[in-house]
Amino acid sequence: MSRFFSSRHRGLEPYVPGEQPVGQRFVKLNTNESPYPPSARVIERASAESALLNLYPDPDCRALREKMAAHLDVAPENLLAVNGSDEALNFAVAAFGDETHPFVFPDITYGFYPVFCQANRVPFKEIPLDASFHVRPEDYMALGKNIILANPNAPVGTALARTVLEQIAASNPDSVVIIDEAYVDFGAESCVPLIGKYSNLLVVQTFSKSRSLAGARLGFAIGDAALIADLNTLRCSTNPYNVNRMTMAAGIGAIQDAPYYEQNCREIAKTREYVREELEQLGFELTASQANFVFCRSDRIAGADLYAGLRKRGVLVRHFDLPRIADYNRVTIGSREQMDTFLDAVRDTLTAYEEKKR
Ligand SMILES: *Cc1c(COP(=O)(O)O)cnc(C)c1O
Repeated sequence: MSRFFSSRHRGLEPYVPGEQPVGQRFVKLNTNESPYPPSARVIERASAESALLNLYPDPDCRALREKMAAHLDVAPENLLAVNGSDEALNFAVAAFGDETHPFVFPDITYGFYPVFCQANRVPFKEIPLDASFHVRPEDYMALGKNIILANPNAPVGTALARTVLEQIAASNPDSVVIIDEAYVDFGAESCVPLIGKYSNLLVVQTFSKSRSLAGARLGFAIGDAALIADLNTLRCSTNPYNVNRMTMAAGIGAIQDAPYYEQNCREIAKTREYVREELEQLGFELTASQANFVFCRSDRIAGADLYAGLRKRGVLVRHFDLPRIADYNRVTIGSREQMDTFLDAVRDTLTAYEEKKR
């Protein structure tokens, strides 16, 4: 830290992203990326757009917002395009949180939420998930505080029904309820159809997972036009060119090729159920994940030891060093072939581990 760093930021603990190894040594199942490449049209459109990189992009993202609005059946005024959905979450915490409007979210959820709160000096409270890692809806009814719920939740994968989230939004009319739908396309119900009915509801989506565009950085905030206008005020006060030309072109192509991505999501959901059965056969317990990952533990091996054993065998998964979930690993669902490599590495690790203990 330099002696110039403002005391305002002392004690800020940045978010730690999953490891991004240089080179392709690993079967990479640690950051929930898609194993499938962008569609041919996305690659074509983004490449063609690169010839125009000498020009600034459209700061209003009009073409992209119109396409996405039509896709979601909302108006363009209900949409903000962002540089990854993390940006939308940060804007939302900054826009709607302060000393008298704290945020509330589960104790086990996306690790970035507390960081956004700390960075914006917004107080927050964590509410424990139940023993099976589900959100208890009653904990969030008539709370009178801003709420963030990831649905499905990360890193556990459990999801709530739209009707339940609707009750939470309805019972907190004077607070903003943010639903982070990073994983919604893998098997949960989207709250987008509720936009228009609840002026306090903000849905956040990303193209990083189901749309194979983690490297492009594209997300959306979707909500009442007044909420979106507030986020837009912050965006224009920090970086009006937050979405670059190539990403905008890629995003339009991805919306046009929706059937390709829907097919990939179905494939991933199928592979997830295959991995679930195989892991259960090996004695693992899994949460009821509806996302593109499984969250698993076993009495046969400690979470950190499984993580280390897999890493040694060239397979990267995500282990969180938090007391409540230290026994677990989060494993991204890749291609069937990648998952067979993963399962072989699990068997191998267990054998070596049990031999050593004997
Ligand atoms: C991956 C993820 C995000 C961030 O997505 P980006 O659009 O890549 O910034 C947000 N929320 C959750 C729960 C995620 O898992």
